[in-house]
Amino acid sequence: MITYLTELDTKGYIDEPIDPTLDLVEEINKLKKEKNAVLLAHYYQEPEIQDIADYIGDSLGLSQQAAKTQADVIVFAGVHFMAETAKILSPQKKVLLPDLKAGCSLSDSCPPHLFAKFKEQYPDHIAITYVNCTAELKALSDIVCTSSNAVQIVDSLPPDQKIIFGPDKNLGDYVRRKTGRDLVLWNGACMVHELFSQERIQHLRRQFPHAKFIAHPECEKELLDAADYIGSTSGLLKYTQESDSDTFIVATESGIIHQMEKASPGKTFIPAPPNNACACNDCPYMKLNTLEKVYNCMKFDLPEVDLPAGIIARAKRPIERMLEISERLGL
Ligand code: SF4
Repeated sequence: MITYLTELDTKGYIDEPIDPTLDLVEEINKLKKEKNAVLLAHYYQEPEIQDIADYIGDSLGLSQQAAKTQADVIVFAGVHFMAETAKILSPQKKVLLPDLKAGCSLSDSCPPHLFAKFKEQYPDHIAITYVNCTAELKALSDIVCTSSNAVQIVDSLPPDQKIIFGPDKNLGDYVRRKTGRDLVLWNGACMVHELFSQERIQHLRRQFPHAKFIAHPECEKELLDAADYIGSTSGLLKYTQESDSDTFIVATESGIIHQMEKASPGKTFIPAPPNNACACNDCPYMKLNTLEKVYNCMKFDLPEVDLPAGIIARAKRPIERMLEISERLGL
């Protein structure tokens, strides 16, 4: 165990050699049964991980699933703040994250001690934070939201309620425009959604004039202004299923395209390109998880994500408020 803990400090995951003859999918499924474990995967995970997950979803869906699962162990194929959210909602369960270094640039862009000082400047405001943030930041918040429910949550509050919104300035600005509310924004952003190249996207649109251009609200305003549809990952997925169009240029992390192709096999999905030489925009943190790391993490019950009881108690309230409002509004 000591060797493994040292390994976690340096590498962030268990690097135990795996017998190459093993069928990892079969082994992971066996471990799920043996340990009464559930595997939750975000839409941005590698397709092979999505395909063995018990539940695939965006932040809201995964939070709801984490809250109601009967499993003893939650294996979170996603990033650190998501595993923390699962722990906050199910503190009695063991929560595993295949690679502890699967962090998030957006979450990192809002250190809790600086946000606490920021809040002090606006004593008559409540703080709404996007779920893509640390447990400590959630503990400083009044309501948590996701990209699927941010607009409705802000809309559900009394019109004279003053609001600070963090950490994502692009999502905050989008909510501000949709609701007409004067939100005070924290200046944070996601490196993946800010990297799209307008020029390359325009070039693609000229090449595929009938394609619908769809984008996640973490993208910058200029890009959103040009979009045919804006939505969370599950919103984008639903849109591609329901739309009459057969071609889509997709401006979010490219992992979602796996589910889009499965849901609409006859349709074409083109990842919106970033402003570098790559064809698509992958989140380097999400893509740290591999099938091998999922297997080792389930076999050795490490790395585990745990939180102090005080943080769990304080971070739970704003998440529960989000879940209550979402349920009340039928989201
Ligand atoms: S896509 Fe952006 S917001 Fe999502 S985990 Fe990666 S860095 Fe964070």
